[in-house]
Amino acid sequence: SACAALPRPLGLVPTMGALHAGHLSLLAVAGEECASVAASIFVNPTQFGPGEDFERYPRDEARDLRLLEEAGAALAFAPDASEMYSPGASTAVHVGGPLTSRFEGASRPGHFDGVATVVAKLLGIVRPDHLFLGQKDAQQLAVVRRMVADLDIDVEVVSVPTMREPDGLAMSSRNAYLDAAERRGAARLYRALQRGVAVARVPKSTVHVLQATEADLARPEDDPAPRLEYVALVDADTFEPAAEPRRGHLLAAAARLGAVRLIDNIIV
Ligand code: AMP
Repeated sequence: SACAALPRPLGLVPTMGALHAGHLSLLAVAGEECASVAASIFVNPTQFGPGEDFERYPRDEARDLRLLEEAGAALAFAPDASEMYSPGASTAVHVGGPLTSRFEGASRPGHFDGVATVVAKLLGIVRPDHLFLGQKDAQQLAVVRRMVADLDIDVEVVSVPTMREPDGLAMSSRNAYLDAAERRGAARLYRALQRGVAVARVPKSTVHVLQATEADLARPEDDPAPRLEYVALVDADTFEPAAEPRRGHLLAAAARLGAVRLIDNIIV
């Protein structure tokens, strides 16, 4: 009912908190396009796998609420897990097919079911006109777009470009887990993707793009290299691997460095 009282159009920015400038850029874009902006803070247990970082995920609700207020959010929704998932809850949203079985879906079984279900619930609770999501989580963005289309949900999904640190590292709440050497090394992932995309601009096959990315990460440097889990050139909507680089494809990668799993992508 608090959302219903807000001036329209209403934008929703869902987050897991530990807010950084990337989240704030979503709020800024939402503020430009909408008469009011609601944000959610919810570390959703169902999108974390066993052995992932659910317990130690950074949480600072007081700071987050202050940042949301400063960013002009009209409303913050920060439910407990017990408020979101009542004891009898028996429904989940599963986006099927290759879109959710590859890449992040393969590395994190069940992750996209958790994401799709919680986003569907947040849309049902807040009933926004526009939903703002970051390009950084490109496969999540594609999964949510697919769900919104398949379930005829009346919301416009808006993607917002990735905010980066000065050395290119994509901002992420999980970057806080990196020590100083790992933090420097983490920026190598974006530099390697840039090398790959540079190759994609001259007509070359996908194999050359992937080789250029991998070779850049294999170069001996003082800073530790992220260990690639995957790098792929894919269609941005379906995440089908692309045979030839084309404008609008994504060069997407995941890599591990210390205790952190980094993901990033560049639009060709
Ligand atoms: P999270 O709190 O990590 O679940 O992220 C909440 C939203 O912020 C998601 O739509 C993310 O894609 C987006 N986001 C996270 N990091 C960034 C970034 N560096 N730049 C832009 N958007 C981001």
